[in-house]
Amino acid sequence: MQNLEIKKTNWARLHVIVIAFLLLVNWNCKPRALDSKTVQPPNVIFMIGDGMGLAQISMAIEHAQDNLAFAKCKHMGFIKTKSIDDYITDSAAGATAFATGHKTQNMRISTDTNGRELPTLFEMAIKRNWLTALVVTSSITHATPACFYAHEDSRYSNLAIAQDFLGSNVNYAIGAGKPYFDSLPDFNIPFAVGFDNFNNMNQNRWMGFYNEDSTYVDPVLKGGEGFLPKSTGLILDLLSEKKKSFMLMIEGSQIDWGGHDNDSEYVISELLDFNKTIEVVLAYLEKNPNTLVVVTADHETGGLALLDDENNQMVPHFSTVHHSGIMVPVFAFGKGANQFSGIYDNTEIFNKLSKAMGL
Ligand SMILES: [Zn+2]
Repeated sequence: MQNLEIKKTNWARLHVIVIAFLLLVNWNCKPRALDSKTVQPPNVIFMIGDGMGLAQISMAIEHAQDNLAFAKCKHMGFIKTKSIDDYITDSAAGATAFATGHKTQNMRISTDTNGRELPTLFEMAIKRNWLTALVVTSSITHATPACFYAHEDSRYSNLAIAQDFLGSNVNYAIGAGKPYFDSLPDFNIPFAVGFDNFNNMNQNRWMGFYNEDSTYVDPVLKGGEGFLPKSTGLILDLLSEKKKSFMLMIEGSQIDWGGHDNDSEYVISELLDFNKTIEVVLAYLEKNPNTLVVVTADHETGGLALLDDENNQMVPHFSTVHHSGIMVPVFAFGKGANQFSGIYDNTEIFNKLSKAMGL
């Protein structure tokens, strides 16, 4: 009788241990994102109009006689763009601030003033098993996109930056610059050349090049129209199929180049193509409300002023062929957009994005 009691007690203990073990295993295996008590972080679409100041936007709005996608925005801010040692930033220090939260010297690609590597939003997201992607109209190795995946002392080290891309785990990259990758002996990422061939790509990691030999997408006025919005739509379709959190970086790279050329038609046409891309992104946001969209610029280019002529019509006046130090606007849409109102440093973009992403 006593023996039987002992056996019963042992069985009961064993049951309790087994149940506790099963509960523990179940709790540990449960993905955090699916836990009803935790809120799923939003997908992030970060859009940079390189060199896109308020005058550039105003000029495009006046030209189009339409307030463009910017008019749909309810949460706006301004960022101060200077680099660590220069009132006027370049694209490398500007994108380093966005991607890492650190001000650095002009020319640097996500490295600090001592050359140490600064962890980037993409790298942090990849560690959390997020998907990452970028779509640009420059070379994939150009300063702005490079700051999200590479670490170099100079933005002009295109081959080293391309090598860094191979070592990154960025899933999808669309833009130009195939010659840089062709120069690498170990270039083994699946790729497609020409937009019409991007549809055939179904690997977890691939690159899409505008063509075989360019280091930039043709400007809108010279045949490149629609490449950015179409590529963005394709990547968004692909990312949504995967049912995983993602960060997508998009750059309208050549708004800046029009500014350097003091060519208002170049600026307007690139900005309107970028605007179409924002429309594509906002259409995605409408169907996927758990998405944060932030549109901004790394700096203004051209010191553009909008004056009038004798017929009272707008006339653009550029005051420099370089960048200027004026603050640039931030437009935020979707989940957590209200966090982006105010006046703050460009490094705050990193802080606000990483907080939204739960990194
Ligand atoms: Zn720039």
